Amino acid sequence: MIWPLIKGLGVTIRRFFSGPVTVQYPEERRSVSPRWRGIHYFEATEDGDTRCVACGLCVAICPPKAIRLVAVEREDGSRYPEIYELDAIRCIYCGLCEEVCPVDAIKLSRIYNVVGSSRSELKWDKKRLLERRLEKEAVG
Ligand code: SF4
Ligand code: SF4
Repeated sequence: MIWPLIKGLGVTIRRFFSGPVTVQYPEERRSVSPRWRGIHYFEATEDGDTRCVACGLCVAICPPKAIRLVAVEREDGSRYPEIYELDAIRCIYCGLCEEVCPVDAIKLSRIYNVVGSSRSELKWDKKRLLERRLEKEAVG
């Protein structure tokens, strides 16, 4: 009868002297697996523009329809995303857009904090996705 009590007390004493197990987020961040599917970014061309060729495959494959694309055609016949918008609230981070992209333009980073104070802040446009390319390098 007294044995479980002693055992419990032992756990309490051990925990009392061991270090904290919590992480002081956001100053401290847990590392994630290399296979982690975090928030998106755009890979860029040499002149800093998006690699996206507005083929529409990511839009077609996205299960929750989280991507909005308005494509335009240039004079040389190439396509360009005039509007590319990814809704972080709708997204389920399945990674299909990354898998299907023929030019490796859209990618998922290892950044996991999806933060915003309004719905509009969580709709990432072309500019935001390109900026995140640099942020994700800082995270790894
Ligand atoms: S990760 Fe999946 S749900 Fe999110 S935008 Fe890409 S295809 Fe859509
Ligand atoms: S991100 Fe890739 S798959 Fe999506 S429209 Fe652009 S080129 Fe096509």
